[in-house]
Amino acid sequence: MIPYCSLQRISESFEPELSKAIDHVTKSGWYLQGKENELFEQSFAQYCGTNHCVGVGNGMDAISLILMAMQHMGWMQQDDEVIVPANTCIATIIGVLRAGMTPILCEPLLTTCNIDPERIEALITPRTKAILPVHLYGRVAPMEAIEQIAKKHHLRVIEDCAQAHGAIYKNKRVGNWSDAAAFSFYPSKNLGALGDAGGVVTNHPEIATWVRTLANYGSSTKYVYDYVGINSRLDEMQAAVLSVKLKRLDADNRRRQEIAKRYFEGIKNPLIRVLPPSAIEENVFHIFPIFTHRRDDLQLYLTELGIQTIIHYPIPPHLQRALPQFAQQSLPITEQIHREELSLPMSPLLSNEEVDKVVEAVNHFH
Ligand SMILES: *Cc1c(COP(=O)(O)O)cnc(C)c1O
Repeated sequence: MIPYCSLQRISESFEPELSKAIDHVTKSGWYLQGKENELFEQSFAQYCGTNHCVGVGNGMDAISLILMAMQHMGWMQQDDEVIVPANTCIATIIGVLRAGMTPILCEPLLTTCNIDPERIEALITPRTKAILPVHLYGRVAPMEAIEQIAKKHHLRVIEDCAQAHGAIYKNKRVGNWSDAAAFSFYPSKNLGALGDAGGVVTNHPEIATWVRTLANYGSSTKYVYDYVGINSRLDEMQAAVLSVKLKRLDADNRRRQEIAKRYFEGIKNPLIRVLPPSAIEENVFHIFPIFTHRRDDLQLYLTELGIQTIIHYPIPPHLQRALPQFAQQSLPITEQIHREELSLPMSPLLSNEEVDKVVEAVNHFH
């Protein structure tokens, strides 16, 4: 059996340091807003190359909190529009809605699965205030084109980095290509906690302060409340876990890139399309997607051979019952991706033998 990504194997590989860190927090008697948060925030900001990091409860809250902060700063208001990719984890879109704003869905490019920069300008209206690209599957979104459009139309840029921890484009890490960036440390992400966790990184001190305040009920001084915020704090246990795992993030990402190379070189089947390989450091391969019009057959076939795969994602956000306001939109590229995508096993702990077995099985599919 080849697992898609065994979190148990990953946790074991961090022992005994992981258990020691947890034990340390347990015995400290201090579980929220303490030294572990401070330490992790410092090291993650330094890692991303940003001036600030604020630990929050999860990645979706990180998105909402950035937009809420920007509203308090007078950069945008409720009901303003934010351009987001139509094919993303639905949390991106719900994060915008939870901040009281209107997501505007933009088609991706079939060859990158990331937002198509050529389609952004047509979606801009007087209400548009921000572009929110997602570095989907671990591949950096077209940030230079987005930057140019944003400058021309006076829009803010916010990155959803939930799938791309550590990815580098033109010597700059993701999280450092925008006004503020949201990270999720959901257990299966490239940098994952042992539960829910998230973070906001930014170079604007004011955004960092607002996010910190709004994530703590809207309070900057204990028992004094000037705003209505939410409760979305990173706990000390998760911060300690993340500090341990951050030290290996670059090595883990390099291993993911090696595995991806092996897939790119090995997979040769006319029924199956892989994305054109981009410069390797621009992709940290959170997910290795392949595409075929017989996706469900392929998944069943691989399951029978003991190879676990996942679909990212089976139903596009605009066709979810939760979002009827988008149901009438024509988004054929997004729908094609959702119809054809299958994610192969991907974890820094996969062995070359396991990867080769997957390649062989995929190549024998007919
Ligand atoms: C995982 C993910 C999120 C949400 O993160 P949570 O921590 O689960 O809230 C948001 N956007 C993308 C692209 C994701 O992959």
